Amino acid sequence: MPFRPPVHQPAHGGAAAKRQAHDRWRGSAASRGYDSAWRRLRAAKLKADPLCWWCQSLGRLTAANTVDHIVPISERPDLRLVWSNLRSGCKPCHDAHTARQVAEGHRGMRGARR
Ligand SMILES: [Zn+2]
Repeated sequence: MPFRPPVHQPAHGGAAAKRQAHDRWRGSAASRGYDSAWRRLRAAKLKADPLCWWCQSLGRLTAANTVDHIVPISERPDLRLVWSNLRSGCKPCHDAHTARQVAEGHRGMRGARR
């Protein structure tokens, strides 16, 4: 039976947490896209639209557990906290969509839009 000795991975705490606390002053936590404003907005979106957008378009009713940015943050960071740029999705749909976006992204989605 395989046995793996416990690996010490500081999930919280350590130097990273200290840096994070420090970053709050400079707003770099927000620039990474996962600050408290986003978490609140995300929760509100899932409450308002509890069903997966992609599944709904296929006539399926699936509980959403992720929130997607219609226009990706990489393209429009200013739309990150804009309600109309959000849609709820289930994880499989969201992952498939993200994979598609990444694949398409290399063919000049960036730049084609402006
Ligand atoms: Zn779905």
